[in-house]
Formats: sequence, C-alpha cells, structure tokens
Amino acid sequence: MTNRDVELLAIGAGPSNLALAVAVEELGPPDLARNMLILERNPDVSWQPGLLLPWARSQVSFLKDLVTPRNPRSRFSFLNYLHSVGRLDAFINMGSFTPYRVEISDYFGWVARSLGQVRLELGRDCVAVEPCRDRAGTLTGWLTRLADGSTVTSRYLVIGAGRDPYLPPALAGLPAHRVVHSTRYRAGVAGLSGELPYRVAVLGSAQSAAEMVHALQQDLPNSDIAWIMRSITLRAYEANNKFTNELYYPSFIDAFFEARPEGRAQIMAEMHRTNYSGIAPGLLEDLYTDFYLDRLHGRDRKRIIGMTDLTGARAVADEIALELTDRRTGAVSELRRDLVFLGTGFVREMPALVRGLAAGLGLDAVSVGRRYRLDPAGPATAACYLQGVNEATHGIADSLLSVLASRAGEITRDILAHRAAPVGTGARPAGHATPAGRAQPAGHAAPLTADSGLA
Ligand SMILES: Cc1cc2nc3c(=O)[nH]c(=O)nc-3n(C[C@H](O)[C@H](O)[C@H](O)COP(=O)(O)OP(=O)(O)OC[C@H]3O[C@@H](n4cnc5c(N)ncnc54)[C@H](O)[C@@H]3O)c2cc1C
Repeated sequence: MTNRDVELLAIGAGPSNLALAVAVEELGPPDLARNMLILERNPDVSWQPGLLLPWARSQVSFLKDLVTPRNPRSRFSFLNYLHSVGRLDAFINMGSFTPYRVEISDYFGWVARSLGQVRLELGRDCVAVEPCRDRAGTLTGWLTRLADGSTVTSRYLVIGAGRDPYLPPALAGLPAHRVVHSTRYRAGVAGLSGELPYRVAVLGSAQSAAEMVHALQQDLPNSDIAWIMRSITLRAYEANNKFTNELYYPSFIDAFFEARPEGRAQIMAEMHRTNYSGIAPGLLEDLYTDFYLDRLHGRDRKRIIGMTDLTGARAVADEIALELTDRRTGAVSELRRDLVFLGTGFVREMPALVRGLAAGLGLDAVSVGRRYRLDPAGPATAACYLQGVNEATHGIADSLLSVLASRAGEITRDILAHRAAPVGTGARPAGHATPAGRAQPAGHAAPLTADSGLA
C-alpha cells in the first residue's frame, strides 16, 4: 500500500475544484500550485455525466464560468475556450447566454487539460478521510483513503465531491439495473434496446425527472411511461425574474450568512421556487407539446400520476412492484414496471464522505465559517474546506455555478493566510502525524512552509 503526501488535496474534479485549481494557479505562489493534487473518481472530467443530454442547456449565463466573476482577464474563461476550439463565431451568432450542457462540460475538460501546475488524477475514488493528530492532540493533517488501497496525506483538504443522490427508502436494495437514479440515467439506458416496449416509472416532478421523461421518448421510444409525483401536476420554476436572480450574486452570500435563523428560513422559503421543485419553462413547454402530440396521434404512451406517494416496492421475478398511495383518497394500488427512474434529487444532509470525516473528528454536526473552512472544534495546524454543500449557511446559490469562481478565490486566499500565519503549537516541519499519532514521511511533497495555530 502506498502513501503520498501533498500540501493541498482536492477531492473531486467537478467545477468547484477546477475553479479552485485555477484560483490557486492564478493567486497562489507556484510552490502551492505544484503541491496541489486533485483526485477524481470518474475516468474523465465531465459535468453531471448522468444527465449530459444533447439538447440540455445550462441554466446560468456562460459568464458565470469558472473564473470570469473573479478574474475577467483569466485565460481559463469560457470565451477563451470557445476561441481555442474554433467555435467563438458560432457561439456569438447563436446569440444565447445559456450554452448547451455538453459544451460547458467540454469547457471543464479543457480547463483541466490546460492547468499548468496543479496535478489531476482520474479514476481515483476517495472512500474515507480521517484526521491526523500529533501526540498533543493537535490536528495536523488529513489522511485520505482511496478505493485502490493507497492513501494521500495532506495539510489542506478541499472536498468538492458534490452531493449524494437521494434514494427513497422503499427502493433500497432493489436491483441497480432496474432502479436508476438520474445521476446514472445515460449509463442506465445505454445497454437497453430502443425497440422493446419497456414499462417505465419516473418518480419526481422537478427538472431531472422532466429531463428523463423527455429523453426516454427518444431513448426508449416504445416504452410506456408512468410519471409519478406527489404534487398534483407540473409547474415551472421561476427562471426569468431578474429581481430574485440578484440573490444569486456572490455578494449576497454575506447577507445570507449574517442573517439570523428566522431570516435565513424566510430567504430559503422565498427562493425555493427559483431553483427547486419546478421545471425550466422551455422544457415544460416542450413536454406539454409531447403530451399534446401523443393525444393528437392517438398514442397512449405516457401519463402523469399526480398526488401519489411511493409507499413500498419489491422485486418480483423480472419486475419491480411499486406500491402507490393516492394522497387524495388514501387508496393503495400496485404498479408493475420493468424500470424505475428516479428524479428524486439529492440528500440534503452532508455527503457520507463528510459525515465520516466529522465522526473521525468527534463532531456531532458539521459547520463551516464564512470562508468555507470546517470548524474542527480543537487545536489545529491543518484545515479542511467544503465546497457546494453549504446551502444552509451560504444560501441557495452554494451548489450552483453562480458563486464558485468567487468562492474559489475566497478559499485560496484563506489557505494562503492560514499557511502564512505564525507557527503554533503542534507544528511539524514535514509529514503528517497519522491517525494513530505516528509521524509519516513527507514523500515527494515540498516541505510545509508554515504551520499555524489557527483553527
Ligand atoms: C443534471 C444537473 C444539471 C445542473 N445544471 C446546472 C446549471 O445549469 N447551472 C448551475 O449553476 N448548476 C447546475 N447544476 C448544479 C450542480 O451542482 C453544479 O452546476 C455543479 O456541478 C456543482 O459542482 P461541484 O464541483 O460542487 O460538484 P459536482 O459537479 O457534483 O462534481 C463533483 C465531482 O466529484 C467527483 N467525486 C465525487 N465523489 C468522489 C470521490 N469519493 N472521490 C473522487 N471523486 C469524487 C464526481 O465524480 C464529480 O466529478 C446541475 C446539477 C445537475 C444534477
């Protein structure tokens, strides 16, 4: 089993950590950038690959790319990407602020390939993170365990691994090839025959469910689709309100962070309909057209089953039997399906990786400061930052592209200040104490420049 040591380890090569890599290269001294490693579990850099559908568009302006709100002169901008791949004229001529998701995804891959100093390794699944302490109990680093059995130690750790998919408890333990979360949609339909008349259920009434229903009509055109949802029918989210869109500015994070609990609750409740529980107006229009044309041509291949709860499920031979409860009448019925697609979103709590880390630190709850640094509740010369999972404290834009360029700048500056702070107790010149308290060699990493007592 091998161990490597780096100064800054970033888990996940999604937009959050790619923006961080660029910020470290642009704002930090070269020794930090050269000593930063990103680990990504997928075999390539791609944006939300499960729903990377050919017609799907980004919901935010291309100007909210990985860098422009922080540094409009950066060479890592979306416009420079378009120029580099020869599509700038065509994009300008399209006259749209919202690119296709596939071109944003390709842009992220281009950024990853264009990094000059930060290293990125693909196919590296991080399965656990543990705190490292010295004999005095000071937190001195992090030990990240990979699925291949190797480990990486680091003084700084940034977790930008997205959120965990939500699987309704009723569906736990059912075969993964029949119960497919939206994060696996493309892989889930890839091996299926487009000719067969599958009986399909789609659960949920928001954007990911809507995208799957729209896509299924092309991917499995002979399928029968039962679209099951708690709400009575579909509705659009509020996409075109420029007043509420101002609340997605990076500058609104301070106002949200400083708000008292009742204030945060009101803001989240009022902002909910701008991002959740609804469908992009254009897609809603397209779906209605799909339903209209079905009726016009006498096809009965999909229907909405509203006000319905999934209250049970079991695998029966080659089928999934869904137990459905009508919220109006309480009547219980059974629906047999070959495939169940889940547009059920993401777990609201911290991802399992972060919860495991918190348990290792002895924390009951995870809390980060304004600059996204985890509070380890004790003396520390190391620091861990969480990206994209702080909606409760940093507001509704936290999981979106809107803020991640400026957030990457804030985290980078915080790391630079932390690393420049005076050496505190428990400092070690190189290497990290292991979870058991033994010193480990620093490996190929450059010596740490400073330790501090900052928590
Ligand atoms: C279908 C879909 C469409 C969306 N569209 C938009 C949009 O138009 N505009 C917008 O602003 N937001 C959109 N979002 C929100 C989305 O969360 C953000 O755009 C953005 O992807 C968040 O970036 P991230 O880097 O924090 O997380 P992610 O994009 O989820 O990236 C996390 C990365 O970490 C990797 N990873 C996870 N766990 C591990 C591990 N244990 N070890 C190693 N690597 C790991 C993943 O493979 C992934 O590459 C969309 C979300 C979805 C699901």
